[in-house]
Order: sequence, then structure tokens, then C-alpha cells
Amino acid sequence: MADPDPSHIGILGAGTMGSGIALTALYADYRVTLVDVAPEVLEQAQDYIDRYLSRKKLSDRADQIEYGQDLDQLSAAPLVIEAAPEQLELKQTLFSELDKICPPPAILATNTSTLSVSAIASATTSPERVAGMHFFNPAPVMPLVELARGTATSQAAMDHLTAVVEKLGKTAVTTRDTPGFIVNRVARPFYAEALRLLGEQIAAHETIDLLVTLGGGFRMGPFELMDLIGLDVNLAAASTMYEATYGEPRYRPHWLQRQMVESGRLGRKTDHGFYEYEKGEKRGSTPETLAIGQTSGFVLLSDGSWAPDLGKLLSQAGYTLSEAHGDLPVAAVVVNGREEGVTDVIRRYDRGLGPDTPILCQTVDITLSEVQSDTRHPERIVGMDGLFFATGQAVSLTANSITAAKIKVEVENLARSLGKIPVWIEESPAAVLPRIVCGLANEAAFAVGEGVAKLEAIDTAMVLGVNYPEGPLAWAEQLGHEKVVAVLDHLRQEYGEERYRVAPWLRKAARRNRSERF
Ligand code: NAD
Repeated sequence: MADPDPSHIGILGAGTMGSGIALTALYADYRVTLVDVAPEVLEQAQDYIDRYLSRKKLSDRADQIEYGQDLDQLSAAPLVIEAAPEQLELKQTLFSELDKICPPPAILATNTSTLSVSAIASATTSPERVAGMHFFNPAPVMPLVELARGTATSQAAMDHLTAVVEKLGKTAVTTRDTPGFIVNRVARPFYAEALRLLGEQIAAHETIDLLVTLGGGFRMGPFELMDLIGLDVNLAAASTMYEATYGEPRYRPHWLQRQMVESGRLGRKTDHGFYEYEKGEKRGSTPETLAIGQTSGFVLLSDGSWAPDLGKLLSQAGYTLSEAHGDLPVAAVVVNGREEGVTDVIRRYDRGLGPDTPILCQTVDITLSEVQSDTRHPERIVGMDGLFFATGQAVSLTANSITAAKIKVEVENLARSLGKIPVWIEESPAAVLPRIVCGLANEAAFAVGEGVAKLEAIDTAMVLGVNYPEGPLAWAEQLGHEKVVAVLDHLRQEYGEERYRVAPWLRKAARRNRSERF
């Protein structure tokens, strides 16, 4: 019989997640029954829980938890959260047993990250009381819980779980029962695009991490994060998504991941991953710090919109701006997009300026070699990530084999004089950050379009679940939906790959913006 005491939670599985959820529940003053088949796991869980309760001066709550190996001990709990290994058959067997042991109205929740809640619920006679309750690791710290509604889950069960999450002091987002729910799905391009950039030798993993953190404001770079999560865990998540969607190209795992896993380089836990570790500490150098050079002079700035706020930055640094040829400029800066006639502007500047004047051109929706074609002095043209130039502390600059060394030095000095850390990358469609951020926005837009969750819930989930500096859809709005679409169309054009196709929701948003301007 269900316990009339609503402040009782049963937890099945006392490993990483089960013990973390148990501690979270104790913090919120719940009574907990924690069950696991392995006595040594229960001992470890008890050590961990006692230690943290003591740190929080809550040792008396240790009386509110009961440990055991018998599933029947869960019979009185009005809510059972399952945190057993990620295997469908095992979870189905456990839910079929829980269905008998814990009769309705008890609610049965699964902490699965990637399996179908509906498939797990199908093993019960009352799937309406089964839902996904996806905590993040470490559960006591991470503020988000994804509540996944299976095809049969009742509204009453969802409401009940929402109230529990609130009592646990966390934020609930509701998602449809779809592969990866919100966070594990929308985050895929963060890793996938970074791995592709590395695989294509556009930049080293340290460089990509530097641009993502100091350029994009993410707390961790994709390679640092993969090392932390574990390359094996990350590959498993990518593979599950790929298989669950019958080979959706956006989720295709990268050969580099597999190579790392097969060679035992799993990240921090093996001391070898993309980085090397010693006793859990990263070895190697820390990123370069900034030395700002003071410069003044005349800069020829075009009239485009693909490097927002760069003009302001140049003026603040002491440069005089002009849109017309006249005095001898220290550099010309082209911030027009493809649709704003970037190639025409480049050719005009190339003809009008002396061959030694560097031309710095945005290369986000156009690639450097395309900008250089049909110019007399392609060696003085350098690419930049205009979209993130003004906001990033580190900024990517692109050169190729024909770029003159002297020009690279001058452009680097210009970037430094604007307070930026210049980071060189090889020629690549959409550079590093636009490729990753627009990929995230596109994935989020697919998820909105498929009704996985509401727009706000997706942004909240990404900020609280993986610490992103912005929700991807709010970010797309700030960058401009049209620009995000242009970046993705450019990637699709250059690679000819379906993985870069634009989400219909995003294209509609871009069209709506255009029509609003007329
Ligand atoms: P884990 O291996 O640390 O813990 C699983 C526990 O289940 C083990 O202690 C094991 O002894 C126990 N177990 C196995 N068979 C059992 C049975 N028949 N009855 C009772 N207990 C049994 O795994 P974890 O990392 O805690 O993951 C648990 C679930 O949480 C998985 O579904 C996983 O996908 C999900 N999840 C994990 C993370 C994470 O970062 N680790 C994050 C979110 C969700």
C-alpha cells in the first residue's frame, strides 16, 4: 500500500545517480529508501551521504534514510525513482516488478538519459503513472530536472513530479519522450562540430577550447568537457542518438571519438584524453594572457552588419573610421555578409588600396578563399569571425597558404590593440564559434519544431543543465535568425551535407524577421 506520507521517496539503484538523488532528497527533508543489489555500492552510498550531510551540518537527517537490497522495501513509497544501469531490458524487468510491488497511485519515475520512457512504461500495467525524471550529475548540485512525458503518462503524474522537483529546490522542464530529451540532444553539436573541426585540422583542440571559452563565454570547452564526462560515455550518448533516429546525420559519431575510446584514452578517469592529467589535474600550459597595444590611425570600415559593434570597438581604441577611401588607412575592415555584397566590397578595396594595406574580412557566411578569388592581392586578405569579434576576449583569425606573413603580424597587432587575443585557425566554413553556436541553435530549433519542449524550456534546460552562457534560441535571436540561417546554408553549400540543413522553424523565424522589416 502506498504510504500516506508524501515526503517519502524510494530510489532504486544506489550508484552515481541514485546516491546523488538520495542526498538531494534528504537535503529537502524527504524520507528515503535506497535499494541496490550490490551491498558494496550501498556502503559507498552511505559513506558519501553521511559525509555530505555532515558537511552541511545535517547529520541528523541520516536517520531519515533506510538502505536495503530488497525491492519490497520500496512498496510503501508514493514515488519511486529508478536509477539502475542504462539497459532497456533491465529497466523493463525492474518496472514490471515495481508495478506489482508499488500499486497505484504510487508514481514510478525513471532517471534514464537516453532510453524511451514509453518503452520502459510498457512493462507495467499502468503506464499512466510512469514518467521520466532525468537528473543531472552531480544531482545535489545541478539545478535542472527534465520531466519526460511518455505516450501514456497522465497529467496528474506530471503535476505531482513537478511539485516534487520544486520541493527539491530544482527547476523542472517538461519534455516529450524523444531521444536525448532536451539537453542530451541539443548539446550534440557542441561536441560533434568541435570533433569535426579537429578532424579537419582547422584548429588544435586547445585552440578550439580557447575560442569556445574566451571567445564564446562557455564555462568549459568541448574537449575539456568530453574529458570530464568520459569519452566512452560521450560516444555512447552520440551512438544512442544516432541509432535511435535511424541514422540522423546530425548525430553521427566521429571516428576520432571511437579511436580515443578504443585506445583507452577516456579522459580524466584514465589520466589521458584530449589532454593529459596527473592525479586529476590537467597538465600543460595555461592560455595566453592579454597584452594590449595602444594604436591609433585611420581604418576603412565597410557598411555591413556581420561584425556587430566592431566600429564602436575601433573608435574606442582610438582609430578614426571612414567608409570612403581617402587618407592612407592602417587597415581596411570588411563587415559585409554574402547578401550584403562582400565580394564586391573586397574587390573595390583591393583595387583602391595600396598592396601593403591589410584587408580584414568577416568570413562567417563566406570562406576566405572565396573572398580572395578575383582580387589582385589576395595575400593581404585575412578572415575573421565577425559575429563574435566584439563580444569575445579571444577572436579567431583565418589565414591560408597565400596570406603574407607581414600582413598576419599587422592584423594580429590590430586585434591586440582592440583588447583581443588573436587566435589563428585554418580556413574553414563558418570558423569555430559560429559553426558550434549556430549548430546548437539549429538543433534547438528542430526540437521546438518537433514539439519536444517549449522554446523557453529548451533555453532554460541548456543554461541550467550544461551551464551554457545563453539559451541557444535566445542566442539565435541576438545574432539574428537570418544570420544563423546564412551560416548553416553556407556550411551546407560547402560540405554538401544534410547534417547542416536548416530547421524549418528557424527558417520561418528568419523569414518572419525579414517580412517585419518591410
Ligand atoms: P551506476 O552504474 O553508477 O549505478 C547503477 C546502480 O544500479 C549500480 O549501483 C548497480 O549495482 C545498481 N543495479 C544494477 N542492477 C540492479 C537491480 N536489478 N536492482 C537494483 N539495483 C541495481 O549508474 P548511474 O551513472 O548512476 O546511472 C543510473 C541511471 O541514471 C542510468 O539510467 C543513466 O543513464 C542515468 N543517468 C546517469 C547520469 C550520469 O552522469 N552518470 C546522468 C543522468 C542520468
